[in-house]
Order: sequence, then C-alpha cells, then structure tokens
Amino acid sequence: MKVTDHIKNAKDTLFSFEILPPKKGESIETLFGHIDPLMEFKPPFIDVTYHREEFVYKTREGGLLERKTVRKRPGTVGICAAIKHRYDVDPVPHIICGGFNMEETENALIDLNFLGIDNLLALRGDAMKSEATFVPDEGGHSYASQLIEQIQGMNQGHYLDEELQNAVPTDFCIGVAGYPEKHFEAPNLNIDLKYLKKKVELGAEYIVTQMFFDNQKYFEFVDKCREAGIDIPIIPGLKPLTTLRHLQMLPSVFHLDLPDALADEVANCKDNKGAREVGVEWTIHQSKELMEKGVPVLHYYSMGKSENVYRIAKALF
Ligand code: FAD
Repeated sequence: MKVTDHIKNAKDTLFSFEILPPKKGESIETLFGHIDPLMEFKPPFIDVTYHREEFVYKTREGGLLERKTVRKRPGTVGICAAIKHRYDVDPVPHIICGGFNMEETENALIDLNFLGIDNLLALRGDAMKSEATFVPDEGGHSYASQLIEQIQGMNQGHYLDEELQNAVPTDFCIGVAGYPEKHFEAPNLNIDLKYLKKKVELGAEYIVTQMFFDNQKYFEFVDKCREAGIDIPIIPGLKPLTTLRHLQMLPSVFHLDLPDALADEVANCKDNKGAREVGVEWTIHQSKELMEKGVPVLHYYSMGKSENVYRIAKALF
C-alpha cells in the first residue's frame, strides 16, 4: 500500500522509522534484531537508505596507493524485499541520482516494481566523500526533480526505449526530502522551497523532513510550504541524539542548529550514557508536541539501532 494511503486511512499519528543496510559482511539477522521490537508499534512503512559507492585507497608494495571503488552498505533492494516478506510492512527504498545513469535508474525501478514495492523516496544524494560538490554520473540526473520526472514517466508507461510498445506503467508513490533549516547548498529557504515545490508539481506526494531539534523550525517550515502552495503531507523526521560527540557532529554533517537548552543539557553530561538519556527525553518531548499538533506520521532516524527509538515509541504509541 502507498504511504499516502496509509496516511489517509489513519485516525491518529502513525509511527515509522528509517534503517540503514548493514555494513558489507554483516548479517541481516542483526538488523532484524533491531527491527523486531519496533513491530510492537505497528509501523505501516519502513524506509531503507541507499548508500552510493566511495573511493578507498589501499597501499600497495613500494608505497603506491591504489584507488578502489567500494559500496560499504549495499543491499537496499534486498532488505526491502526481506522486510516485505518477514513483516508484511511496506518498505520505502531510497533511490538516489548519484552513481546512476538513467538506464541504471530504470533497471532499478523495474526491479522494485517486480518486487511489488510501490513507494520510493526520491533523492539527489550527497557528493561523494572525495568530491566537494555533487557531480552527476554521465547520463544521470543532477537533481531529485529530474529523477521524479523519470519515475513519473514510467508511471505513465514511458520507458527510455521509445520503441517499446504497450509498456506496462509502474505505480510508484513518490516521497521527497524537505529541509526545515534549508538545504545547505540553497542560497536561502525561499529558493529551496521553490525547488521543493517543483518536486511536488512533478509528482511528489509527500515530504519527509531532515531531522530538526526545535519544533518551531518544523512548524514555520510547514507554514511556509503552505503559503507557497505545497499542500502534500509533511512528515517530521526525528533523530534522538545518542552521544556527546553528536553535539558537534550533527550540526556539521546535517547543517542544523541545536537549541540552547538541548546543547547545554548535553554539554553538562559526564558520558555518552547521560547524553543518550537527554536525547531520548528530548525526542519524547518533541514527539508529544508534534503529535498534539496532529502530524500525520512521526518518522525516526534509527541509524539501524532500535533501543532508543523503542523507548521513545513506548512512551507515545
Ligand atoms: P534536491 O531536491 O535535488 O536539492 C538539492 C539542492 O539543489 C538544494 O539546495 C536545492 O535547493 C537545489 N536545487 C534543486 N533543484 C534545483 C534546480 N533545478 N536548479 C538549481 N538548484 C536546484 N542521501 C543518500 O545518499 N541516501 C539516502 O538514503 C538519503 N536519505 C535521505 C532521507 C531524507 C529524509 C533526507 C532529508 C535526506 C536524505 N539523504 C540521503 C541526503 C540527501 O541526498 C542530501 O541532503 C542531498 O544533498 C540533497 O538531496 P535532495 O533530494 O533534497 O536534492
């Protein structure tokens, strides 16, 4: 079932979460061990991230460096199929522009369609770690909006090979990313919203936000989206802070601000255990307020570990 139908049919706020494929060589059983307890809260859908290739350098004899291309967390499609099979829950694979040309994207979409997966989160993806800015593959997309155009084309039966006769249309429900504190490359929030609106006009049916720690930022973002004519569901994405290091790491990686009250509380913690407690309590507080305001879904970034998200969900659902 489509994410938008789950939202339409729901009487109350739904619970969902995002997982990462395990690192290459790790077992899917460990991942199941994290997902299993969260089934208690009946998530109608689970997002599975996609991780593109990276360059790694190996030292060879004589000190020469050899560059290798590796994907450290492959398996997005396989995990989606496994989630459907094991839990009968709708998986939402993330599909990105980076590392794909249009033909490869089309083939990935065909795989997902054959697996009976009818939801996608369409994203551009970040720059490769070795590159300063995002560079599309030759024949690939530069922006999520172009990826949406391709998916919508397939939803209307248009494949890349124009000679295909009577091609079967796909029926993907497309979600996209939104940034309450603006995407870091956008000159300002209004310009970012202009491109967000374009994604909606091209066929995106719901938005999942980047994590935020100050609900006011989310409320203001929703208001601005509505003013701009973006009228699809906007699902808040929440991440519980779990370590002392997150105090610096989250703002630098995700380009967001931590509110004073949270930053001060964490800074006063002696160890990671203390920081984790603050993170859980903060997220429960955020979630309660968002629920009271009637958000359609509370979507948690679990980073593949369920313990904190379990405690938060137990306090709410
Ligand atoms: P876009 O919507 O393409 O926007 C990127 C930038 O370009 C923005 O600054 C926008 O304002 C600007 N822009 C858009 N269109 C145009 C245009 N036509 N002309 C000029 N500028 C334009 N990354 C992964 O690699 N894998 C994942 O699984 C993943 N999951 C994510 C899930 C969520 C909920 C979120 C919020 C992010 C996720 N990301 C993931 C990270 C995401 O790929 C990055 O934030 C990326 O930098 C932007 O992706 P986007 O889809 O928002 O890009």
